[in-house]
Amino acid sequence: MNYNYHTHTPYCRHASNTAEEYVRRAVQMGVTYMGFSDHAPYRHADGFGLYWRVQPEELESYISELSEIRERYRDKIDLKIGFEMEYYPGCFEKMQKTATECGGEYLILGQHFVSEEDERSTVNLHTVKPSDSVEKLRAYADTVTEGIRTGKFTYVAHPDIMNFTGDAELYREEMRKICQASLECDIPLEINFLGIREMRNYPCESFWKLAGEVGSPVTFGFDAHRAVDAFDEGSLARAEELVEKYRLNYIGRPRVILI
Ligand SMILES: [Zn+2]
Ligand SMILES: [Zn+2]
Repeated sequence: MNYNYHTHTPYCRHASNTAEEYVRRAVQMGVTYMGFSDHAPYRHADGFGLYWRVQPEELESYISELSEIRERYRDKIDLKIGFEMEYYPGCFEKMQKTATECGGEYLILGQHFVSEEDERSTVNLHTVKPSDSVEKLRAYADTVTEGIRTGKFTYVAHPDIMNFTGDAELYREEMRKICQASLECDIPLEINFLGIREMRNYPCESFWKLAGEVGSPVTFGFDAHRAVDAFDEGSLARAEELVEKYRLNYIGRPRVILI
């Protein structure tokens, strides 16, 4: 695997090592196409902002530090600078503007909450948290589907993050919307290696079974939060096993959609 467009940096406060250490590890292991996609900055109208995003006041340093590294390694690796971002219909334009104006080049869609209200709730409403709420399941499927249809996202990170514990048939019905939109818009779905490394609820087998039936394009992403994960060969076998098992339409390196 010589590509990876899902890389974090210490700017999100929950990733270790320096940005350069990620690049060095990737280059060492033969990665030639790489993208930084740290959590996109977002401040609510009243000034509230989650701690685990790049903070707006650090945005300039994020871009300038990565640009400087890109220059230094330009003969070794093709480096893109972007963000992992939620799709919230009410503020997508604003978030996208923030991302492009500072020099961000691409976006991947990572729906950690189904709405901007949810991300500031005092109870944990993260999509990874087990829930049997049909309303939340539908909201997840609808926002991700709509996000895909904007045509602004290079791919969908961990599309199977939604940890629905209710009816399996209902889950398939809702997830089918995402798989179908991915196929129609030719926007790949990512098998997320962080989920494999940490044995999370994703990759979710029933999701990938469905993606295989629909024929959605599929790609891989290391989701590196440590330099060592800028090349994660340990998780590769499991991802390849899923491709094989569900006859996934694995496309390899995704086409980067420049914003
Ligand atoms: Zn993260
Ligand atoms: Zn994510």
